Amino acid sequence: MSDIIKLLPDHVANQIAAGEVVQRPASVVKELLENAIDAGATQVQLIVKNAGKTLVQVIDNGKGMSMTDARMAFERHATSKISNADDLFNLHTKGFRGEALASVAAVSQISVKSKRQEDDLGTLLEIEGSKVTKQEPVVSSQGTMISVRNLFYNVPARRKFLKSDQVELRNITDEFHRVAMVHPEVAMSFSHNDNSLFNLIKSTHRQRIVSIMGGKTNEKLVPVEEETELMSIKGYIGKPEFARKTRGLQYFFVNGRFIKHNYLNHAVLSAFDGLLKEKSNPAYFLYLTVPRDSVDINIHPTKTEVKFDDEHSLYAILRASVKHALGQFTINSIDFHQEKQYEVPYEVAKNKTSNSPRIEVDPDFNPFQQEKSNVSNTRTQSFQKPAAAPWESLYAGIEESSKLIDESEKEQVTSSMFEKHEVEQRNIFQLQRKFVISTLSSGLLVVNQQRAHERVLYEKLLRQLTVQNGVSQQLLFPIKLNLPAEEVSILLQLQDELEHTGFLFKSLHDNVVEIEGLPLELKEKDVPSVLEAVIAKEQEDVPEYSYSPADGLAQTMAASMSIKTGEALTKEAMENLVDELFACKEPEITASGKKIFINLSGDSLNSKFN
Ligand code: ADP
Ligand code: MG
Repeated sequence: MSDIIKLLPDHVANQIAAGEVVQRPASVVKELLENAIDAGATQVQLIVKNAGKTLVQVIDNGKGMSMTDARMAFERHATSKISNADDLFNLHTKGFRGEALASVAAVSQISVKSKRQEDDLGTLLEIEGSKVTKQEPVVSSQGTMISVRNLFYNVPARRKFLKSDQVELRNITDEFHRVAMVHPEVAMSFSHNDNSLFNLIKSTHRQRIVSIMGGKTNEKLVPVEEETELMSIKGYIGKPEFARKTRGLQYFFVNGRFIKHNYLNHAVLSAFDGLLKEKSNPAYFLYLTVPRDSVDINIHPTKTEVKFDDEHSLYAILRASVKHALGQFTINSIDFHQEKQYEVPYEVAKNKTSNSPRIEVDPDFNPFQQEKSNVSNTRTQSFQKPAAAPWESLYAGIEESSKLIDESEKEQVTSSMFEKHEVEQRNIFQLQRKFVISTLSSGLLVVNQQRAHERVLYEKLLRQLTVQNGVSQQLLFPIKLNLPAEEVSILLQLQDELEHTGFLFKSLHDNVVEIEGLPLELKEKDVPSVLEAVIAKEQEDVPEYSYSPADGLAQTMAASMSIKTGEALTKEAMENLVDELFACKEPEITASGKKIFINLSGDSLNSKFN
């Protein structure tokens, strides 16, 4: 049998190697922006067409390359940034592997124009699938322009795996933000399909963050500063009251490089402990500087994980600094001793003075008015007496309504869950601002108000999304929101669906959202949190096959629009809620599978008295 091992042809080997570095258009953006910064540019322009699938172009005014260097730059392991292994532990540049350009060149069509200050003429190079197809001197200004066209034109399998333009553009925007946030001293612009998305002038870190995140970010930031031997920390955290459901705004930079680090992330979150609404994420933009030899960034070209020597100490320093910053700047506005409560939204808990259970008693409500006209006056009056303690009236009600149950059971004629007379004058009340309790012919119904409303809204919204359009309430004054551009682009992507539910957008561009109509059920003050929830859901990577966008949207909107635990309900609202719930297709469980009500039958009550 003949030998079977072969050396792969160069172009195949190159393409395989390229796969390590270049996974999507955003990887090209990252490498080109980093090269421009490494070249000392003070102005960097990013120009993108069709989410980078057709063109990624970066123009800088950095130091440029000689003709020989321009050729060399596209060889694998060709770099000007390190010359021996020791340099790896003392990196001052973003790149150092000398792999990026070679990798990009293997899977795209590139043209480069570059000129150094000391040269009269620059160099033009064209490269296609690693082969140089043109090289000539050109007139150009100092700096480098690299255009990467038709990424993966020669690897159709990879091109096929690119996601939608929206998703790829979002990844590109992320990379742009990450570089821009570390280099406020560099003017940076970004345009997509000839629309200018960002035009960032040279500024401070704070201004840069604000101009990227948009609008009112400035007033939401609290500075963090700490200087220790192991690490220095500079940067900002978002005030707890502005924490959002989206996880987007969390940035660590270590020695000028964006990184992800679960353990350090936990340090920050734990410093916020007790100050956040459930499931909300605080924003942070933290620039950490550690001695260069105490961190290993040499793990993987595309990964953003790093390893620190002494993670435990860094954790402690970071947590303490963030806690300190929070304490300094929010001490007046936040109640630090607020207790965490299950399902109680922050706003409610914040304004609460005591946590004792409350029962809402409607003093005008007399369940016996109709059925029990023969009840003596004195009895009725004592029941209505406002001085009666809430607990007393509660028991009085139950005692009396159990008589009602007995009576109605004898004359049960209707198939409806509620007795006829109960529909007219139903025994219904709220317990702990969480449960709606109603008497039934057969026992007692206990409904979780938040979950019930979620189910009602979910079915309504899903219907509007799939079959008919929702009713819109026109706003007298349009609502204007400032959101990061990438979040606006998510809304743009969902515009049709959102309009089916009743939203009416006046404009959706850059980082501005203007709304002139709302779904009937949506309160104006809840608009930001509903949109935030929708965006957050979109940002989660959901497997495409099992996910119906309409269903997801309906679930998210329903969850964030629903009546919450802690809200007092009028009797009418309770009655409507229960009626609407039982008109639903699936009243038993929420869309996410949680139990909505329990039904305590007379028998089960009886058994408790044995
Ligand atoms: P690395 O950045 O890891 O060194 P790259 O493949 O990204 O590797 O780039 C190779 C070399 O090309 C760099 O070391 C640098 O000398 C040169 N280079 C790349 N881009 C630029 C640029 N925009 N301006 C000047 N030189 C550049
Ligand atoms: Mg590089």
